[in-house]
Amino acid sequence: MNPQKRIAIYGKGGIGKSSTASNVAAACADEGYNVMIIGCDPKSDSSITLLGGKRIPTILDLLREGMEIEEEGDVVFEGYKAVKCVEVGGPEPGIGCAGRGIIVAIQKLKKISQSMKEMDLIIYDVPGDIVCGGFVAPIRKGLVNEAYVLTSGEYMPLYAANNICKGLSRINTKLSGVICNSRSVSREKEIVSKFANEIGSELVAFIPKEQIVQDCERDGYSVLEKAGGTDIAEVYRALARNIMSSDCAVDPRALTDERLRELTR
Ligand code: SF4
Repeated sequence: MNPQKRIAIYGKGGIGKSSTASNVAAACADEGYNVMIIGCDPKSDSSITLLGGKRIPTILDLLREGMEIEEEGDVVFEGYKAVKCVEVGGPEPGIGCAGRGIIVAIQKLKKISQSMKEMDLIIYDVPGDIVCGGFVAPIRKGLVNEAYVLTSGEYMPLYAANNICKGLSRINTKLSGVICNSRSVSREKEIVSKFANEIGSELVAFIPKEQIVQDCERDGYSVLEKAGGTDIAEVYRALARNIMSSDCAVDPRALTDERLRELTR
């Protein structure tokens, strides 16, 4: 039996982490893997497209309401092809710490969830870029054993991706690959490939910008479920296969800001 993969996808807020995470989860489920997705973003939209548009209660909201979370079924919901969906939720604006909240919620989940141990793949969809120690909490606590970074070819997402690499090397965590979620910037594939190579990693997927992704999302479905015959679904399938078979990870070497600017010019 292959060891369980526990991956985190990092990247600038709004770059498409949740849609990538949920489409990869769906593609892996299609291949017969047992998959769990743990959304750590306060917007809790990691799992909505696996659940036909339904929002599930978040662990932190339930804890705040004083509910005793005792069974897996209180917070783990089955979606497309039995993907297990969990939403951690976030702190109240202005109070509390997102990183701390993630740890509290996941510790709770580990206590009650038997099936967590049986998963082939657990995907952590983590908010924002690593700007503070809080967001690397899942790695520090040993919950995650592989990290991926998602970016486009624009300067700001690449700047965030580069910062993430700095954060990962500071905590001795390896990077398994760079994913480009295209914004149709000129020379985008070339820019992101170069970035990936220069930090010592590789571009593992180039996801073209396609309206169908937004359309499926708006309807509450993954691309795999709603538009499984499209080219973009094939891109997610290839990425999923790549993730499940990858055993190569590197210590990322972040670039200087100057080099990063040169790359995107
Ligand atoms: S920025 Fe970091 S320390 Fe501050 S609340 Fe968020 S996770 Fe916690």
